Amino acid sequence: MIQTVIAGERQVAFHDLPDPQPKADWAVVKVHASALCTEYKAWLAGHNPAVMGHEGVGEVVAIAEQGPVQVGDRVVILPQYACGRCHNCMGGDYIYCENGYDFAALHGSTAGNGTFAQYTLKPAWLLPQIPNDVSYAQATLAIDGIGASFGGFEAIGVNAQDTVLITGLGPVGLGAVVNARFRNARVVGVEPAPWRANRALEMGAETVFDPNDPDILQKIRALTDGRGVDCAIDCSGQVSAERLCIDATRRRGRVAFVGECGDEISIRVSPDLIRKGLTIVGSWLYSMADYSKVMKVIRYSPLIDLLISHQMPMSQIQTGFGLLAQGEAAKIVVDPWA
Ligand SMILES: [Zn+2]
Ligand SMILES: [Zn+2]
Repeated sequence: MIQTVIAGERQVAFHDLPDPQPKADWAVVKVHASALCTEYKAWLAGHNPAVMGHEGVGEVVAIAEQGPVQVGDRVVILPQYACGRCHNCMGGDYIYCENGYDFAALHGSTAGNGTFAQYTLKPAWLLPQIPNDVSYAQATLAIDGIGASFGGFEAIGVNAQDTVLITGLGPVGLGAVVNARFRNARVVGVEPAPWRANRALEMGAETVFDPNDPDILQKIRALTDGRGVDCAIDCSGQVSAERLCIDATRRRGRVAFVGECGDEISIRVSPDLIRKGLTIVGSWLYSMADYSKVMKVIRYSPLIDLLISHQMPMSQIQTGFGLLAQGEAAKIVVDPWA
């Protein structure tokens, strides 16, 4: 089978590897579609991420033992290799598993450890079914496209009463616009790239500000009777945007951080938290208990197809990475068999 690897700066290679084999409760899935995410950053830098492709969907083609999936099932391939037994996994929070499998140690190879490949291997309990009325391309959105911000919105309870600030309108931030509109919340966006800002407006964001606008905070307050937004979600992973989320949210408001960020942000406990009564949460994907709710957004949001800007063969994945690097795409979905 063919599996994509990063071969150098702005270079991918397609390796021909042995087809992965089912083992114990691990099933083999034929990958029909996989969405691009942060891998473009590794492509720009020229280093291989631990897993190439984590937003795949496909069809179960082999199992080693009877379990929750059957050959022929259409499934979402949930990310990571959670154990299924620790207290977080038992509560549905498999993404926070403290005891995940070491793929290479268990299988003796990295063939099938990512979804930019024709086949992948996954513990069967991490393969929920795709409803019949959802296409493979749409089903990829059940991971980060819709799922990442869905988890953040659940954590801070975004609803139709709320004006929500969304900073960073890349694929995850645009997914947040879809989620916010599905909940009938009012959307104010922040994004420097014109393509993304326009797509957010097309999806129903009321306004999109450039983060470099020196008056941005006053302008956001002016839209909210001088008080600030009810909630904010950062999807950019930029410290300045995280700070804006804190400053632009009203007293007793709620903030969710979803964009990955390794840099330090300074928080002043009294003015930012105690005396403001702010709730700040970090959120990484969503509880497995909410899978059917995420699917409901995918099935019934009239905006869902605007979240997929490009579909292309996996052989052209570099074109997709380039579009993401330029900020000129929403979700990009590749087909490993084309
Ligand atoms: Zn992702
Ligand atoms: Zn676990």
